[in-house]
Amino acid sequence: MPGTFRVTIDGSRLRFAAAHMATFGGRCEPLHGHNYAVSVEVEGELTADGWVWDFGDLRGIASGIIEELDHRFLLQQESALLRATVRGDSYELCAGERSYVLPRSDVVSLPVDNTTAERLAEWIAGRLHTALRAKGATNIRRLAVGVEEMPGQSGWYTVG
Ligand SMILES: [Zn+2]
Repeated sequence: MPGTFRVTIDGSRLRFAAAHMATFGGRCEPLHGHNYAVSVEVEGELTADGWVWDFGDLRGIASGIIEELDHRFLLQQESALLRATVRGDSYELCAGERSYVLPRSDVVSLPVDNTTAERLAEWIAGRLHTALRAKGATNIRRLAVGVEEMPGQSGWYTVG
């Protein structure tokens, strides 16, 4: 009977802590943070060795991407509500009547319109997909990333 193979990873190396201000209904949330937890699912045909993909390698790629977000402010660079201006070594953020100045090194600027768990999952999945393709992963048919913002609340994105 034909079936599908899938490997999944999650756990301590796939966690990150970050600050953000998501926007919702035309308003910007106050500055706050989350301890995020990321899960990755990869589906595909088995290689000649009987793997979908090596767990250690997958974990290494994913944790490298997630590390870029750890202990940073997550900036949605395509937001219409949260305006960000670079001035020297700082980011000036304007959210309605509130404004903030953050060191540039504390900010990761993401090509998204909002820093929801769904958009973060989409960004991580895109980066992971690109990295796996670069490693010659032609057997992978589907890749899904889940970003848990707090226990019991996750946003997912699936490529393929
Ligand atoms: Zn939040």
